[in-house]
Amino acid sequence: MAKAVEIKNGGYFCAECNRTHIKGKIYKDHLKYAQDDDAEDVNIGEKDDEAEEEILEDDIEDYDDDQELIEAFDELEQLNEEEDLEEEIYASEDIEECIKAVKSLPGVGEATLNKLIKSGFNSLESIAYTPPNIIINDSGLGEKTTAKLIKASMERLGIGFKSAEDIWERRKNIARITTSSQELDDLLGSGIETGSVIEFFGEFRTGKTQICHQLCVNVQLPREQGGIEGNALYIDTEGTFRPERIIQMSEAKDLDYQKVLKNIVFGRAYNSDHQILLIKEAANIIKEKNIKLIIVDSLIGHFRSEYIGRGTLANRQQLINQHLHDLLRLCDIYPELAIVVTNQVQSKPDVFYGNPLRAAGGNVVAHGSTIRVYLRKGKGEQRVAKIVDSPSLPESEAVFAITEEGIKDG
Ligand code: ADP
Ligand code: MG
Repeated sequence: MAKAVEIKNGGYFCAECNRTHIKGKIYKDHLKYAQDDDAEDVNIGEKDDEAEEEILEDDIEDYDDDQELIEAFDELEQLNEEEDLEEEIYASEDIEECIKAVKSLPGVGEATLNKLIKSGFNSLESIAYTPPNIIINDSGLGEKTTAKLIKASMERLGIGFKSAEDIWERRKNIARITTSSQELDDLLGSGIETGSVIEFFGEFRTGKTQICHQLCVNVQLPREQGGIEGNALYIDTEGTFRPERIIQMSEAKDLDYQKVLKNIVFGRAYNSDHQILLIKEAANIIKEKNIKLIIVDSLIGHFRSEYIGRGTLANRQQLINQHLHDLLRLCDIYPELAIVVTNQVQSKPDVFYGNPLRAAGGNVVAHGSTIRVYLRKGKGEQRVAKIVDSPSLPESEAVFAITEEGIKDG
């Protein structure tokens, strides 16, 4: 394989895709390799990362001060623009601003900054939402320093102080959508609440997509029947949306299925970029189309298949985090909006996540979702739901059933 060589102002020239690269950005050409399941290609990605790290380590240490480093990145940005590479660059964050923010964290001197940047942690988000052990491994920073950096980054990104009264005012206005199962509704504290992101995670065929379909019907119901008289936006990343199921579920409730179908805005996301874009665009139609429920089924499937290998993990986590924050922001802006995302987990936990009850996506999804519901199979059509990590709900279980008419009590 061709090696990434030829140092240019803090970046490197990658013979693999014939481009000058900036550390911390993701390039389409490498994505092609990442998307290919072939083990050999995954190795190519990893070798590239090694080469990149080696070269940047030498290179970055040549810089006298941070300003020079920032200028070097600037130059590289310009260089890339001249080569008309803008479209090739996936993460469009302003690197200079991000680096400044990282540099302003308490205790970050030149050496720490360089270590962080060269291992791809060039923004507060990437530090706050990457598991500490990965930051430690990739950057070589110590445990204590890493913990401090994560804490400080989280504080910086976070949420300033509000009075509890403000929060209570907001929570009083929360509306709820029934799931059509009393037990599941009770488990969730009277149904799916607005103003939050609710994550259903579990193995294949545990009912995640069926719940999403049911909620698209139920959100349209009058309030006295458990709806909130709104429409749904369905982002399908796996191609599993079935209007037939909507028809069956509508007829079971004596609804005019044509009306119900009309009130579901559908978007098929073909890759993670497209998915991110659809959510950004969603903001423009929420008011206009009276959208009160957004479904993303599934949230991280594309990210998982596109970013393979350890070298890409920090970028993947950062993109998922940004995506999730786009969703959470929508909830903040539109308190009458409920957001439901799904997340597939395998029974065999993968290397990064020791606990099988942990959804794919690691810390990022755990921090971003407000309510997490783990689904597993029961007998026959029965399914068991369990609340995990909710700020206000007990960790209890509910049994429901998936039938031809939709979700019911088990
Ligand atoms: P996932 O968690 O993978 O998204 P689904 O939500 O697609 O799983 O659930 C699939 C399950 O839903 C099937 O195993 C089946 O039990 C049930 N199901 C799907 N369609 C119907 C139907 N028309 N009638 C009854 N059960 C159905
Ligand atoms: Mg599904």
